[in-house]
Amino acid sequence: MRTISILGVTGSIGQNTLNVIRYQSRLEEFKVVALTANKNVQLLANNAKEFRSTYAVISDESKYKELKNAVSDSDVIPLSGLEGLNAVTNLNVDWTMNAIVGFAGLRPSLECAKNGNTLALANKESLVCGGSLLMSTINQTGGKLLPVDSEHSAIFQCLKNESKKALNKVILTASGGPFRTWSRTKIAGATLEQATDHPNWKMGTRISIDSATMFNKALEVIETKYLFDISISDIEVLVHPESIVHSMVSFRDGSVMAQLSVPDMKGAIGYALNYPDRLSLPVETLDLANIKSLNFEKANLEKFPALELAYNVLDNGELFGAVLNAAKEVALDKFISGQIKFLDITKVVRRVLQATEMRELQNKRVRSFHDVQYADKLSRRIANSIN
Ligand code: NAD
Ligand code: MG
Repeated sequence: MRTISILGVTGSIGQNTLNVIRYQSRLEEFKVVALTANKNVQLLANNAKEFRSTYAVISDESKYKELKNAVSDSDVIPLSGLEGLNAVTNLNVDWTMNAIVGFAGLRPSLECAKNGNTLALANKESLVCGGSLLMSTINQTGGKLLPVDSEHSAIFQCLKNESKKALNKVILTASGGPFRTWSRTKIAGATLEQATDHPNWKMGTRISIDSATMFNKALEVIETKYLFDISISDIEVLVHPESIVHSMVSFRDGSVMAQLSVPDMKGAIGYALNYPDRLSLPVETLDLANIKSLNFEKANLEKFPALELAYNVLDNGELFGAVLNAAKEVALDKFISGQIKFLDITKVVRRVLQATEMRELQNKRVRSFHDVQYADKLSRRIANSIN
């Protein structure tokens, strides 16, 4: 029997993780230790009762009473706030999925890593903001990190049993999002609905908009750097509209390895759940004869300037990953609430990165979560002050 926890269970990755667990429960016994969510009490309570989770944690403390009532007819123990989240990430659990969105995912990742637990990581912001801290904690405790982002799962699979010396470069694929074929003028008028309408993947709202701006790929370049200890200049982004090739690794001998599957996150989630084995998953089999052709094109940095930022943002020091992410999160909220236009998302981030207040963070070494949190807060303050 394996013990598991799912942080951010009510989101897109969280629900897909439950779908994989439901499917695999026919073969393996799982004990769900904790399920967590930010605000969605009803779904959290329903999931916790269905899976007989020991704990259910709601981060929004004002919803604690509602959660308590919702699980009162079961053995589920309700917890809330940062304290509740901390308590469950400090338990010994065989497999933890971190499917929280945004900076809020970093602390739980670090707690898991400190305990030497196995962390299936969907929350890319953990690596973007605290990459060196998280990786060094994992190296110290002997914990295991299994990437869940589809591109990183692909690279992880391609690098299995390969020596790092053999590597030439990593090729991250990108779908190009909903605006790949749009002119910049048309993109300027993009609505929220258009920005969340991803052509291949069904994802949470925030990551869908990040795919449209290509901030998602920018974050993934930084994620790749920390996860695989690869220099940013050895990471290339290639647009691949079909989202079938999830990423590739090019080796010194001229060989390129790729991982292919239908675009369904249950594939990467299931790989992380069963690693190093491969078990049957509730995922369609790839039918290349039916797909017929796979296309690739260079990423257009003029149309998607967010991507360019990934290549130079860390030149100022590792805290600038956190600065970039926080400014992007604030700009995203402004776009979602209709305060700014689509192209302003990148403009806000650029202005924060160039703000004089950021100078104090230059080339500062990251020693603790609090250093990252400080950079995050500073970036948010500046981003919020921009109209
Ligand atoms: P989502 O918005 O659908 O769900 C996010 C989850 O996090 C929810 O359960 C929510 O309750 C929780 N949450 C939000 N804010 C929180 C906070 N402040 N404190 C605690 N919990 C909080 O997001 P998603 O699309 O499932 O993405 C989750 C993560 O996985 C993100 O980092 C995303 O970039 C990454 N990811 C997602 C996909 C995808 O297909 N959806 C693919 C690759 C990577
Ligand atoms: Mg991805």
